[in-house]
Amino acid sequence: MSRAEALYRLQLLDLEIDRARKRLSEIAMSLAGSPALEHTRAEATKLEKALRSAAAELKSIELDAQMLDDKIAAEEQRLYSGAIRNPKEMLDVQQELDMLKRRRAALDDRLLAAMEQLERLRADELRCRQSLAQAERNFAEDSVQLRAERDKLQAAIEGLSEQREALCRGIPAKDLQLYTAIRAKKPNGVAVALLKSGACSQCGETAASQLVQQAHTGAELALCSNCGRILYQA
Ligand SMILES: [Zn+2]
Repeated sequence: MSRAEALYRLQLLDLEIDRARKRLSEIAMSLAGSPALEHTRAEATKLEKALRSAAAELKSIELDAQMLDDKIAAEEQRLYSGAIRNPKEMLDVQQELDMLKRRRAALDDRLLAAMEQLERLRADELRCRQSLAQAERNFAEDSVQLRAERDKLQAAIEGLSEQREALCRGIPAKDLQLYTAIRAKKPNGVAVALLKSGACSQCGETAASQLVQQAHTGAELALCSNCGRILYQA
């Protein structure tokens, strides 16, 4: 195996490890939570709160209505019991009763509106709970698949890392240093470029015949004069 070939093989392993690690971080993000699920959860919480406050509102109107009913019953009792003999006082009580009954009628409208609102919110909340349950089931199913994929990837990375270590033992330290330095500088992580028809396959630069020869014999490392990558003639 030439020096360039060893580095090329090392790069194949490294790129595969890179891909696996990238996928692993995607999986970790997906497992941490889904935006759609969070959205439905927030929606359910909002509806629950609205439902509670609508129920409290209805309860409070019901209490007011009950108090008015009691007051009306008491006034009517006073009016019809014959206890009041003064006509002026009887008129006052009658007027008071009329006023109480008007207030009570107005409360009926509010009661009806509050009941309708509560019904609407109950239906909305039920629908929201159902879609939340579905979203949670979907997330759980996806998570099972993602965890299985994660375990497979971790095992693959372990295997690849062992192969990498074994390969590195046969590579001179200065070649490894050069490879690592070039790889760190390249956004795509490619430090070794294949020579294709005498040109660097990464940047397209035609290599001088001396470099092609060098890449071919493999005794010395040949670097692309344009992108600086190690050239490898397969
Ligand atoms: Zn190049």
